[in-house]
Amino acid sequence: MARRTFVGSSLATLVGAGLTGANSALGETQMPSGERLASKPPLVISTWPFGKPPNERTLAVLKGGASGLDAVEQGVRLAEADLTNPSVGLGGIPAANGVVQLDACIMSGPGHKAGSVAAVEGFSHPVSIARRVMEETRHVMLVGEGAARFARERGMQTGPKVTPGQKAAWENWRKAQDKEKKKAPNHDTIALLLLTQSGDLFGACSTSGWGYKTPGRVGDSPIIGGGLYVDNTVGAAGATGIGENVLRYCGSFLVVEFMRQGLSPQDACLATLDRIASLDPKGYDLSINFIAVDKKGRYGAAGTGSGFQYSVACDAYSNILQSPGVTTKPIGPVGGNRL
Ligand code: ASP
Repeated sequence: MARRTFVGSSLATLVGAGLTGANSALGETQMPSGERLASKPPLVISTWPFGKPPNERTLAVLKGGASGLDAVEQGVRLAEADLTNPSVGLGGIPAANGVVQLDACIMSGPGHKAGSVAAVEGFSHPVSIARRVMEETRHVMLVGEGAARFARERGMQTGPKVTPGQKAAWENWRKAQDKEKKKAPNHDTIALLLLTQSGDLFGACSTSGWGYKTPGRVGDSPIIGGGLYVDNTVGAAGATGIGENVLRYCGSFLVVEFMRQGLSPQDACLATLDRIASLDPKGYDLSINFIAVDKKGRYGAAGTGSGFQYSVACDAYSNILQSPGVTTKPIGPVGGNRL
């Protein structure tokens, strides 16, 4: 079953028990499972259940004395290195020509710095290329062959252009195109946000994008303000789902702006979905999801439809939670009026 729709039995218990804990301040939070969150950051939040090990890696790297930027990079690298993950890294679903094209970005709240790469082929860790774009150039984003050349010049780790398993699935998909319009499989993204003990925010995002996409297609994930946004004075947000539906609304930027206006992270995610649905001809039928954390250490998430699963870790706590979903029309003017 698709990750997006799967809800395991233990998780179903959490969902059934209510979601209020996920929106409370750290230290006050009583999780539905009975666990308590630690009373202070660091806090890591990421998209999907596969974000749980990267969250834990992020905290461990931070605990080892590394910077927040190192921590989010290392967390996301863990997801990228997992060749069984069909959504992130070189194990991802290829583009329509059978070659995996990766998108990634990274942001540092301190200094408001950003780096990004898109449509990179044959490199294992696009998040690290994005970081080097941020640190070693005067640019924010490199794409395609230019990004690959940049990575090659720095001797960055390479890997297969597609894994044997994904190649076989792609060949089947390609054959099926002739007979019936076979649907491309589901795709996901890791967006990972960190609030450090000192109150600084960092984020990173990585994906292989829409399965069997048109080669050269770029989604929301490497776009600053689309799939990721970090504002060190307010909070950070990240997205997963159909990138086109996030990109057209600067989704993660909007979540942060709603937090700036005083909404909690979860309410900011809901308000963003409301705003987008109010403008989009498809209403809530968009398959988009957001995560967010604010400067106070509160966090939340929300998605269209039945919502989605996301991962949270802090101190001795690490768990997978279900976000609320939205399917009904917002009442009143655009954005945030459901609340
Ligand atoms: N947002 C990603 C993209 O559109 C994919 C996903 O998260 O499902 O490339």
